[in-house]
Amino acid sequence: MTYLPSADHDDLRSVVRELAEERIVPRAAEIDQRAEFPWDLKELLAGQDLLGTCFEERHGGTALDGVAQCIVVEEIARADATTSLIPIVQKLGSLPILLAGNDEQKDRYFPRLASGEWLIAFGLTEAAAGSDVSANRMRAKRDGDSYLLRGSKRFITHGSVANVLTVFALTDPDAGGRKGMSAFIVETDTPGFSSPRLEHKMGIRGSPTAELNFDDVRVPAANRLGDEGDGFKIAMATLDRSRLGIAAQAVGIAQGALDAAVAYAAERAQFGQRVVDFQGIQFMLADMASGTEAARQLTYAAAARVDANATDLPYWTSSAKLVAGDTAMRVTTDAVQVLGGYGYINEYPVERMMRDAKITQLYEGTQQIQRLVIARQVLQRAGVAKRASS
Ligand SMILES: Cc1cc2nc3c(=O)[nH]c(=O)nc-3n(C[C@H](O)[C@H](O)[C@H](O)COP(=O)(O)OP(=O)(O)OC[C@H]3O[C@@H](n4cnc5c(N)ncnc54)[C@H](O)[C@@H]3O)c2cc1C
Repeated sequence: MTYLPSADHDDLRSVVRELAEERIVPRAAEIDQRAEFPWDLKELLAGQDLLGTCFEERHGGTALDGVAQCIVVEEIARADATTSLIPIVQKLGSLPILLAGNDEQKDRYFPRLASGEWLIAFGLTEAAAGSDVSANRMRAKRDGDSYLLRGSKRFITHGSVANVLTVFALTDPDAGGRKGMSAFIVETDTPGFSSPRLEHKMGIRGSPTAELNFDDVRVPAANRLGDEGDGFKIAMATLDRSRLGIAAQAVGIAQGALDAAVAYAAERAQFGQRVVDFQGIQFMLADMASGTEAARQLTYAAAARVDANATDLPYWTSSAKLVAGDTAMRVTTDAVQVLGGYGYINEYPVERMMRDAKITQLYEGTQQIQRLVIARQVLQRAGVAKRASS
């Protein structure tokens, strides 16, 4: 299973980096300050075919391999974490359809998602059901050839700007979240759907995080993904793969902070010498660089496992997200330290990067949940996993 980037991957990185430096870096501080979704950059990414990387060519996508998809996210996140969520969530929302959709559903939605004409969001979390997905309460009641969706979702990235959602709701409340939940494709112009509120956040401030309300939203039965009761399985299979995007985002944020720290330290002088020439600073830069590289290589190794549909892919993607998220938090915090007081003010980008990094330890499963996934696989491999009680 090879995962070392090829010359094609290097070329892709150069192209995306140039685009990001020219067009995204100059917008990043403003997006953060105004907390506005960057529609202009969504158009830019769509125009460059960077929102269709996970879709097949027959649907208008570019069908990039996993490492290439990570490189795209990484290079955008190096410039601006908010903007990197546009391709990340385009894939996150589409994964339930990629994994469990039929041809009719794929043919109907993927061309508009691959071109970036439409945005999609992934609606799983509820106010009382975060880490414990099985505690979901939203209902989907069968009514003839359709379902009526009633309930609400919380913390849904792009929920207020998406044209379509993949949403999880209970079709059999008595069976509970694990066995009684089903997945649906919901168009957001359906009567009864609303997005009443956005969160005020510490970081990724231009990315709208929405509360969603469903007041008897009528969804055709043809929009159900898989069978009734498949929802939990589809949600878990989605997150097992989508975590890779967050790992790549974290690597990109860390790289952006490292590069900003090196550039600043090479310019700033104290005690009659450049800050970058103090060995104490060089040791910090060395730790930041080696940690970022380790996270990057683990992320690519996980990407290869996802491409191969390896049975132990959750071990790899959770490990990548855990290591990369913690690395991004540490590296961005150290970048603020390297810049001294200037790191703490918004004249430089590292304070924004530090605020942005935090979310990579929280969403698509907190770091504690990644450890649960990894530990489960470790115990299984060792043959010492607890048996399910009958
Ligand atoms: C900005 C943002 C964007 C998001 N985007 C989306 C989205 O697009 N779609 C979506 O569906 N959701 C989204 N989420 C939801 C996100 O995935 C959840 O916030 C996350 O899974 C954690 O759930 P929670 O916030 O309810 O925390 P809780 O589950 O309440 O956790 C609280 C604390 O308890 C710990 N904990 C919980 N269970 C355990 C355990 N078994 N063992 C040890 N520790 C545990 C957690 O690690 C955490 O430290 C988003 C969240 C945010 C903040």
